[in-house]
Amino acid sequence: MADTTSWNDPCPCGSGDAYKSCCGRELLREKRQKRNRIVMILAGVAVAIGLLLYMQRDIDKAQDTTPTKEGYVWSIDHNHFHKLDAQGNIVRDDE
Ligand SMILES: [Zn+2]
Ligand SMILES: [Zn+2]
Repeated sequence: MADTTSWNDPCPCGSGDAYKSCCGRELLREKRQKRNRIVMILAGVAVAIGLLLYMQRDIDKAQDTTPTKEGYVWSIDHNHFHKLDAQGNIVRDDE
């Protein structure tokens, strides 16, 4: 959008007021609202990313504290070790 009229220039309508406080006022407010909306969206995205990173950190921490045992794999769901067979597959348990 080519905006040749400066906000502080006299309004083209000839009222003698600055464009920003005359015919440009509505446009300026719309622009400001649009910018505020973008800022809100960006803030929302930033919060979402921060939350994801925070959750990811918790997952990493959970994995760090997972017990390890040779020939077994820890099941977070069952809260116990699952035995692995010779092929490295989990041996089915009764739970
Ligand atoms: Zn005007
Ligand atoms: Zn199990």
